[in-house]
Amino acid sequence: MLSFAGPAWQPEPMIVGAVVPAAGRGVRLGGAAPKALRELAGEPLLVHAVRGLRAAPSVGTVVVVVPPALVEPVRALLAAYDVVVVPGGAERQESVSLGLHALPPDVDAVLVHDAARCLTPPAVFEAVVVALRAGADAVVPVLPVDDTVKRVDGDRVVETVDRSALRAVQTPQGFRRDVLWQAHAAASGLRQHTDDAGLVEALGRTVVVVPGSEEAFKVTRPLDLLLAEAVLRAR
Ligand code: C5P
Repeated sequence: MLSFAGPAWQPEPMIVGAVVPAAGRGVRLGGAAPKALRELAGEPLLVHAVRGLRAAPSVGTVVVVVPPALVEPVRALLAAYDVVVVPGGAERQESVSLGLHALPPDVDAVLVHDAARCLTPPAVFEAVVVALRAGADAVVPVLPVDDTVKRVDGDRVVETVDRSALRAVQTPQGFRRDVLWQAHAAASGLRQHTDDAGLVEALGRTVVVVPGSEEAFKVTRPLDLLLAEAVLRAR
């Protein structure tokens, strides 16, 4: 839990920027187009994701990281949203690093938000920012795990994990900029992590959790596109 130093406590003023890794190929989703450009209710997934970020009042500069061949078309696609578009790398971690380099120097806190979590409600962005302003180094939105989870070795179950202590982690993940910078520098050339908080944990720094949202699910497989369309229709 975060601690607050009594009635005199004031949230830290912070300039918040965002990095949106959207340079994945989306192999699990199938189809010819890279995932960020797959259409959802008539618009590319990336447009939905950027619109969600822009609806979060705390977020300033947004850097979108896309496959190198798509930099120009995505700049045109997102012209109305005042974003910086840069080319990504072969792995997600590298794409985030490249996005971090493109943030202006006055940014003190960074939200890393997967384009694939394109329907994340603004309240989740704001909850992450509130925890950063309260002094956290790193913040992740989480949900309880509903399925029973087992560790396996090939086709044999090794153990059943106690799910009451497990959480499924979403984005946006929020960081003090210096902490995330240090985490990426320390991890460069080492094992690839599937999220940025993992890099911060590897530094031995504390990562805190805030409630996530069911609507912040990651569009990964074809069924997720159907679900996303249903969520949009219901909004
Ligand atoms: O592959 P995974 O589902 O973990 O990807 C999560 C996010 O990272 C997606 O938004 C994807 O576009 C992005 N990514 C990236 N650069 C890569 C691979 C994935 O920006 N090389």
